[in-house]
Amino acid sequence: MTAPIETLIAGQWRHASGPEYTTEYPHDGSTVASLHAATAADVDEAVQAAEVARHRSNWAGLKRHERAGILHRIATGIRERGEELAQLQRLDNGKPIKETRALVASAAGTFQFFAAACETWEDQVTPARGDFLTMSLHEPLGVVGAITPWNSPIASEAQKLAPALAAGCAMVFKPAEITPRMAIELAHIAQKAGVPDGIISVLPGKGSVVGDAIVKHPLIKRIAFTGGTNVGMGIQRLAAEKLMPTSLELGGKSPTIVCADADLDHAVAGVLYGIFSSSGESCIAGSRAFVHASVYDEFKRRLLVGTQKLRVGDPSSEATQMGPLVNLGHRASVERYVQLGLDEGGQVLSGGKRPQGALYDQGSYYLPTIIEGLPNSARMCQEEIFGPVLALLPWSDEADLLAQCNDNVYGLASGIWTRDYKTAWRIGSALQTGTVWVNTYKMFSVSTPFGGVKLSGTGREKGRLGILEYTTQKSFYWGLNDSPMPWATS
Ligand code: NAD
Repeated sequence: MTAPIETLIAGQWRHASGPEYTTEYPHDGSTVASLHAATAADVDEAVQAAEVARHRSNWAGLKRHERAGILHRIATGIRERGEELAQLQRLDNGKPIKETRALVASAAGTFQFFAAACETWEDQVTPARGDFLTMSLHEPLGVVGAITPWNSPIASEAQKLAPALAAGCAMVFKPAEITPRMAIELAHIAQKAGVPDGIISVLPGKGSVVGDAIVKHPLIKRIAFTGGTNVGMGIQRLAAEKLMPTSLELGGKSPTIVCADADLDHAVAGVLYGIFSSSGESCIAGSRAFVHASVYDEFKRRLLVGTQKLRVGDPSSEATQMGPLVNLGHRASVERYVQLGLDEGGQVLSGGKRPQGALYDQGSYYLPTIIEGLPNSARMCQEEIFGPVLALLPWSDEADLLAQCNDNVYGLASGIWTRDYKTAWRIGSALQTGTVWVNTYKMFSVSTPFGGVKLSGTGREKGRLGILEYTTQKSFYWGLNDSPMPWATS
């Protein structure tokens, strides 16, 4: 067993103060790393140090192009260590290496984008309505907290750290307990790039201990959270106690609609990618496919052929499309949902079980699974499974289709496959989701804001205005009158 890895707390590389624990490679259960969990005292130390570092280092007072230069160096640092980071992330959560490489590249792109946004975002001179000049300026919120899940660590962490640093904030970070290493490596890279000591701390450990302490800390001025809806709601309740802004990127149960005129080969490829990439461990997984009755049988036939061809296996292999689930506990949860679907009257068309063979024996593998015969009201069609399980549903009436798609507590994303742009616009406008993909799925761009509606969350990440989420506005009125104010002198 290798020595426990250190983390960055209050400008010092050291072990956190809580108990030592290990993380496991989902492919075979082998130990990947050991480290110490943080405690509430570590959180306090990190937050206090961040508050001091903000002032002592003049981080917020740096010229924008100077802070942008540091963000550029972080992007370069990520790229220089790209392959190593991709391999580390693969070991942490078992995602196939091709996917983790893409996540690392996207994290570098996120820092590059926010470097550009940092030096080009403009404060405003507003139209004056008297003998004064009026300005609206943006100031950094101060010390902010970030809490992230295990499914795409480096990408979701970059989406929080980059705009926070660009805005001039300090950040106290809590990665998921089981995938702590991307945040720790980002801290290494940021420190080397010139982020002053104390501005970033990384506190691994349990959400109920470390996350809770960050949310409640009086000096924390904002929380950027990605994770489950119940946890997000708890954070929102605590945030209300100190009127603290939050962004909450939460769960989803995204519908994909296949219309009668869709290019079926494109639609099949999109539905397969939408639900089975990342083993379905994706907030935006297209887990409900509504297929027009006139093409349902042919779509199903092609979908099953495509599903049988998917390569499930070792995440280190370049050929692998689907790796294991993140751990055995999560696989058990996915299995319970599939059993629930069967109990509710569904029929398994493909998968519905673990793959067989020595390769899979030690890992938390599960086959890509398709279930039909369930109404949209079934629990399996309503609740987030966060695994490779697709519900296939026929539709024929557009109004009824829209009612079914929107009949869900979540509203994160949706997809439409059609050749008719008017159909796409009409359906897309009616869908209650934060993102609509037309003839594509699960595509991302850091320049386009992302977030959910309904119980999928509040606030947006990414986009140029993503920086402003980490700022507060201050208004300046500059009097220009030569004489005293008339009220006091008349
Ligand atoms: P989770 O909510 O259990 O954990 C997310 C993070 O919150 C972890 O770091 C965890 O330790 C922390 N946490 C747990 N309890 C806490 C508490 N009481 N106070 C503060 N922090 C706490 O979610 P998960 O299982 O890690 O991730 C899966 C969930 O994340 C799914 O619901 C998925 O849809 C969602 N997700 C959403 C997005 C999005 O952008 N909308 C992206 C990825 C994942």
